[in-house]
Amino acid sequence: MRYFVEDLKNNVGKTISLKGWVYNSRSSGKVKFLDLRDGTGIVPCIFFRGECEDSALETFEQLTQEAAIEIEGVVREHPKHKGTFEIGAKNLKILSPSVDYPISPKDHGTDFLMDNRHLWLRSKRQAAILRVRHELISAIRDFFDGRGFTLTDAPIFTPSACEGTSNLFETQFFDEKMYLSQSGQLYMEATAAALGKVYCFGPTFRAEKSKTRRHLIEFWMVEPEVAFNDMYDNMELAEQFIEYIVQRTLKNRPDELKILERDISKLEPVKGAFPRLHYSEAAQLVKKENPSFVIGDDFGAPDETIISSKFDKPVFVHHYPAAVKAFYMKEDPREPGFAMGCDLLATEGYGEIIGGGQREESKEVLLKKIKEHGLKEEDFKWYLDLRTYGSFPHSGFGLGLERAVAWICGLPHIRETIPFPRLYGRSYP
Ligand code: ATP
Ligand code: MN
Repeated sequence: MRYFVEDLKNNVGKTISLKGWVYNSRSSGKVKFLDLRDGTGIVPCIFFRGECEDSALETFEQLTQEAAIEIEGVVREHPKHKGTFEIGAKNLKILSPSVDYPISPKDHGTDFLMDNRHLWLRSKRQAAILRVRHELISAIRDFFDGRGFTLTDAPIFTPSACEGTSNLFETQFFDEKMYLSQSGQLYMEATAAALGKVYCFGPTFRAEKSKTRRHLIEFWMVEPEVAFNDMYDNMELAEQFIEYIVQRTLKNRPDELKILERDISKLEPVKGAFPRLHYSEAAQLVKKENPSFVIGDDFGAPDETIISSKFDKPVFVHHYPAAVKAFYMKEDPREPGFAMGCDLLATEGYGEIIGGGQREESKEVLLKKIKEHGLKEEDFKWYLDLRTYGSFPHSGFGLGLERAVAWICGLPHIRETIPFPRLYGRSYP
């Protein structure tokens, strides 16, 4: 039987063997300590002369940070800290050495850590972030799967733009020019007509030529789309969704959030109903604190911070000026010039985590918008078919997974939220 650090609590008193890496080691007089890391956890291993083989003490002297080792010993509950476990070591074997491991406990600059991302992932903090990311991915899937949604993933090679042409990655599809997907939404509109409630969850590419704390070049987006939902149904869905993924992470990942020193009192209030602001109200709020803001413009990151700082829950902003939104966004017939888009701004200045809204269902209006946006009608032939054969009101949204991870973990920068980040100016390792 193979044992992992996570299994210790059920094996107290047993002599077992563990394989992993040296996280830390130190000697003090007759006792030697070693922290063994195996990916499922870190366990202190204690070597006492007389209790362990003499050869183990000799081997101990050769240990270096991140050497691969096998240790044999007895599982004990910590005498003072109930619920934590240690190994009374008997034997120690070095499986593979580690010479001059570059990441030491001292402070390293960000560039150095990013160059060594493949090793940096072994640190407690980075592992905790990746576990929270994993929890969020399964929470996202469970939320939609539990509500009768069907996962209908969108293609990554796409012949046309959907969020504007400025940040598209061009590539080749044999002899054709093609783009990497910047959103699966248009395809979800097609599958929504087939299956009613659908979502896609996959990688998304945007050539964002700027260095910000919240833009990746390659990120993961989950995009639900529901037939016959209007903008208000859409906000309700987004609200229940965010409450579910946040509360579930709080419940299932307290240890990781503690390692990250996350102030969870800031996440506990994240339960519906979330405040909803019309763009015009939000713009007034912003104008008061940022006089240079031009009403009618999209909000910048500092503007979003002004809006979200007024609330302890995420806040929806709806009815943006149609001019700043994508061509497929439906203009409100009762408020010409305003689109039925609804974005969700996270708390604590994390800014937009969800962008969404109601889609235009009129073929005539869409044709007009496609022209206005300088897009080619023939690229959208199939998309327009959805308006020819039983057009239907429908709405959906996109959540950037990494923005959610950054917010929930309380990270200052999005680069730590994905195993191997692609940023403007960084594509290694
Ligand atoms: P922003 O204005 O912040 O650049 P956007 O309005 O271009 O975002 P949308 O097209 O609405 O973004 O995409 C939906 C969601 O995808 C966003 O709310 C955000 O969570 C996420 N997202 C968008 N661009 C990025 C990016 N470059 N890196 C990480 N996540 C992103
Ligand atoms: Mn958006």
